[in-house]
Amino acid sequence: MKKIGVLTSGGDAPGMNAAIRSVVRSCIYYGVQPVAIHEGYKGLIENNMEEVNARSVANIINQGGTFLKSARCAEFRTPEGRTKAFENAKAAGLDGLVVIGGDGSFTGAMLIEKEHGMPCIGVPGTIDNDIFGTDYTIGYDTALNTAVEAIDKIRDTATSHNRLFLIEVMGRDAGFIALNSGIAAGAEEILIPEEDHSVDKLMDSLQNSGRAGKTSSIVVVSEGEKIGGVVELGRAVEESFPEYEVKVTVLGHIQRGGKPTCVDRVLASRLGVAAVEKLREGISGVMVGVRDQKVVTTPLEEAISKHNAIDDDLLRVADIVTV
Ligand code: ADP
Repeated sequence: MKKIGVLTSGGDAPGMNAAIRSVVRSCIYYGVQPVAIHEGYKGLIENNMEEVNARSVANIINQGGTFLKSARCAEFRTPEGRTKAFENAKAAGLDGLVVIGGDGSFTGAMLIEKEHGMPCIGVPGTIDNDIFGTDYTIGYDTALNTAVEAIDKIRDTATSHNRLFLIEVMGRDAGFIALNSGIAAGAEEILIPEEDHSVDKLMDSLQNSGRAGKTSSIVVVSEGEKIGGVVELGRAVEESFPEYEVKVTVLGHIQRGGKPTCVDRVLASRLGVAAVEKLREGISGVMVGVRDQKVVTTPLEEAISKHNAIDDDLLRVADIVTV
């Protein structure tokens, strides 16, 4: 293995820079030439790539986002686009590709490997933690901490008045950010897509927290919760509880930014090293992840098609601590 390309694709996540750095430095360590590909698969199709060295990735481990930039590339979804990408990769002498991204990016990686034999390794980079084959994805811990900090601030103002805050957090179709940030920030109720929460159930719970002497409430709502939108929910709550001043906050992209936490930097560093080592061992078509503190590999196909379940015990904890 003489040359390895690295790219970031799909939604960006804090810690992606640390992962790129780790891939580049691992290549140098093993005497492999690293090639940085800009703007994800778009850069591969447009031949926007360059050979880099250990110093090219200096001072980025603490930076959010991805300095290689990420892009959504429709052309790569077509067989013609992937052929073009492969031709460029071949011309650049790439023997392997490390794709840092989410399940969409992994689908692209799986296809270019199947169709053209380009060895690919996936590194899970997404704040949503919704990738099967790893306990944690790069960016999730940072996003969680950002959400908790924001909810803490909102609680200060909530408790100063008779206010009820509905706070929407990210997570796509998964409730990991909502459940964990909700528990950590002491939310009165947490709505996640994995649980059958009806609006009525929320109303009952608000009624009960009123009875328990609470004058303000924080409700954390996952963006994937199928309730017709957090603003609609706010209106419905206001109608049922005129005594509350209902405020709706959508945390939005603040959760995607910021300096990666120590946990994310270490995870990214571990997975970057693992990605290069697997390629050198002749292993590809897999994602590297961490399960029970150990680096493991999962076939890309499985990482894409399966989903991590929410921990039932954590749901139980949430129910207990929100009474
Ligand atoms: P994520 O990787 O975060 O899930 P996307 O779903 O937007 O993000 O995917 C990122 C990129 O991966 C897409 O812009 C596209 O280039 C490529 N990709 C996604 N899905 C496919 C697919 N089904 N076939 C080929 N390439 C895909």
